[in-house]
Amino acid sequence: MVLDRGGLKITAFEVDHAPIRPAFGYRVDYGGRSVVLSGDTRVSQNLIRHAQGVDLLVHEVASPESFQRAGVRPERAKPVVEHHVTPEQAGEVLPRQTQGSRSIPTLSCPTRVSKI
Ligand SMILES: [Zn+2]
Repeated sequence: MVLDRGGLKITAFEVDHAPIRPAFGYRVDYGGRSVVLSGDTRVSQNLIRHAQGVDLLVHEVASPESFQRAGVRPERAKPVVEHHVTPEQAGEVLPRQTQGSRSIPTLSCPTRVSKI
């Protein structure tokens, strides 16, 4: 738990962004509503566990095509994409495994990610 004050609860939980550690997602609960922010992660069972029943899941994704359009060479983009969620995974896997949640994929900017 990061914060628990005046009905606002913010919970941090570890996600899978190996080899980059640690990496965290956050769950915010207030007034009977909840949202989970994934942070950078590949498909994470711990994130899915914390996202059960939330109203909204905002999940980072990395698209190989966006790296290509940004001029990043495939051999440079591949290891970055491998420790993130692709749009296909976000669209197919996450809604089924986080029942009742609405999901918003957010795209990582290749120029930012490529500096990691
Ligand atoms: Zn990342």
